[in-house]
Amino acid sequence: MSEHPGLDHNAYAAFELLPDATVAVRGDGTIAYCNGLAARLLELRPEALEGRPAQQALPLVDEAGLDWWECVRPLDGDPHLVARIAEADVQLATPGCRRRPLVLTGARHGEHAVDLVVLSLRRGERRRRLDAARSELVSTVSHELRSPLTSVKGFTKTLLAKWERFSDAQKRQMLETVNEDADRVTRLLGELLDVSRIDAGRLQLRRQMVDLSEVVDKVLDRVGALGDDGLIRAELPELPKLYADPDKLGQVVTNLVENGLKYGEGTVRITADVDGEAVRVTVSDAGVGIEADHLARIFTKFFRRPGERRTGTGLGLYISRGIILAHGGRIWAESTPGEGSRFRFTLPLGGLELADVHAPPTRPESP
Ligand code: ADP
Repeated sequence: MSEHPGLDHNAYAAFELLPDATVAVRGDGTIAYCNGLAARLLELRPEALEGRPAQQALPLVDEAGLDWWECVRPLDGDPHLVARIAEADVQLATPGCRRRPLVLTGARHGEHAVDLVVLSLRRGERRRRLDAARSELVSTVSHELRSPLTSVKGFTKTLLAKWERFSDAQKRQMLETVNEDADRVTRLLGELLDVSRIDAGRLQLRRQMVDLSEVVDKVLDRVGALGDDGLIRAELPELPKLYADPDKLGQVVTNLVENGLKYGEGTVRITADVDGEAVRVTVSDAGVGIEADHLARIFTKFFRRPGERRTGTGLGLYISRGIILAHGGRIWAESTPGEGSRFRFTLPLGGLELADVHAPPTRPESP
């Protein structure tokens, strides 16, 4: 290894401790040193890289497909004026290999001219996947918002322009559709807000000691009020109270019951029992069921079973999962295709200590 005057052997040895692939490039553009991770990334031994022109040995292209070395010119200019190389998404474009996404950062060193550039390279696949998931979210949301809004706009415009020409029954029907579509938009926006809170780990629970059967009764009132009563049966035994957020718990049960009614057939059953240190709630239906390879995926964002024709966003179970996990519980689904599904979740038994609130230590009694 030929050492750079500004960096001694210890400094190079320290590069080996870094968690990222690191390459040091001399002012003349040749590689002074690269750590083991960088050598592995470039699929060469470190000795084979040292002394080679960096632009050749480390061919990087930017997001527009242009040569990163030519665009950024990291070796030009005064290192005091611009000491850092801005973080960039680049691709390693080794000839004959698949391009690999990397996140690059760097620092420039030297007195008047650059005599050493240290580049740090981190794998960019995860960031790519996140970016792709984000744009998919934006496009799904736009799509989901557009159809109800188009109908709201269409019907209101028609009614305003031709009010006299419609019968009362026709006007009522159009207004009912507008009302339903406005509800759909509000529900979707509410769900998105929940999703963003869950993703950011900012879901706030207002916990109190809760009687599960009261929560279930409220859900039955609400869902029953939508005209589906009679198809839901709750059979809850005497249970200890739970330290939970009653509204959020109600949201989970509502979602599971509504899914049971929407995708199931026959009666939706709500049961519960104590399983060790937790209460286990089961919502079961006698519908088409869910194939084994979809069972885990139904809890992911926007997942809907292929060919699903009933309206929905694919966010309900993702939110339910977020709420149950925030309570320290578990949620899963079991199904025998053709015979129906069972959605189950657990909530730990206990009180304030579940929210990390502990009683202050008792003082020793004074004699
Ligand atoms: P949504 O109902 O809005 O699509 P969910 O996250 O609640 O969103 O459900 C995701 C998907 O899981 C549904 O689209 C449906 O395909 C499937 N699913 C949920 N519950 C059931 C059920 N009880 N029986 C069969 N499939 C279900």
